[in-house]
Amino acid sequence: MQISSNVLDLPSFNFYKMKVFNTREEVLTFINDAKKKSKTIGYVPTMGALHQGHASLIKQSISQNSITFVSVFVNPTQFDNASDLDKYPRTLENDIELIKQIDSNIIIFAPTSKELYQGNITSKNYSFDGLEHEMEGKHRAGHFDGVGTVLDLFFTLIKPTIAYFGEKDFQQLQIVKKLVSKYKLGVNIIGCEIFREASGLAMSSRNKRLSPSARKEAAFINKTLLEAKKQFGTKSAIKVEEWVTKQFAKNKQFKLEYVSIANIKTLKPVKRKSKKQQYRIFIAAFIDNIRLIDNIALN
Ligand code: AMP
Repeated sequence: MQISSNVLDLPSFNFYKMKVFNTREEVLTFINDAKKKSKTIGYVPTMGALHQGHASLIKQSISQNSITFVSVFVNPTQFDNASDLDKYPRTLENDIELIKQIDSNIIIFAPTSKELYQGNITSKNYSFDGLEHEMEGKHRAGHFDGVGTVLDLFFTLIKPTIAYFGEKDFQQLQIVKKLVSKYKLGVNIIGCEIFREASGLAMSSRNKRLSPSARKEAAFINKTLLEAKKQFGTKSAIKVEEWVTKQFAKNKQFKLEYVSIANIKTLKPVKRKSKKQQYRIFIAAFIDNIRLIDNIALN
């Protein structure tokens, strides 16, 4: 049984076989040893409040690597809104329990901001060749600089063979692929399908903040996306976006932030459809002041 000393502050965790690291030093020592033994390292970055969507990424990593690292870290530099950062659910004890039920050999890294950023909690500036200016980038100032900065820190420390990201944050997935290729970070990036609740609502840590009635109503997002997909077979992208906008205007519980039908490579809105290109439809909307995002493939 090996447990980092900081974890011993949490009495109920003493019996866990799994390792929970809080410091960069612990990770470095462990990784250097694993690399000497030629172990492959799978890595799943998360902000915690884990659910079955996260679990699906972790399971894929376990099936493809000898070691799996999961980071649990609410990254302050990717939030443009202090209240959103403040209200983001933090449930480390439950997260450890959920991970333990998947496999007790997973390594959790849950540093403080000061520890990870070594006291300098600021973003670097990145260019992702324009991907960062679409959708989320338009509505969350500095978000992708924060994502790039924190992943650069984690990748450099953990040196994963493969890192796993959900298509739930499809723009982030494309930006991470760009980050790795452009800045030569030497990590393979794998995108994983969106895991949904039975109602079709995409699983999200933010769903925990929804009231029971809002959670039920939130299935409206996925229902609208699926209907939009049907319409995309015969209508132009603009017509479908207009139809989606109207559906949200009629639903008084929601406030639509954006709907975009975009090319999956450039993330730019579709002007004219081409059979050779692949498209997805993306939505960000507020319900109960909680911001939810979702997307599906159209062709
Ligand atoms: P987060 O903790 O929200 O930053 O998410 C951590 C990782 O899990 C990201 O790569 C997300 O895209 C992914 N993820 C979150 N929700 C889901 C979901 N419902 N299905 C699949 N992946 C997800």
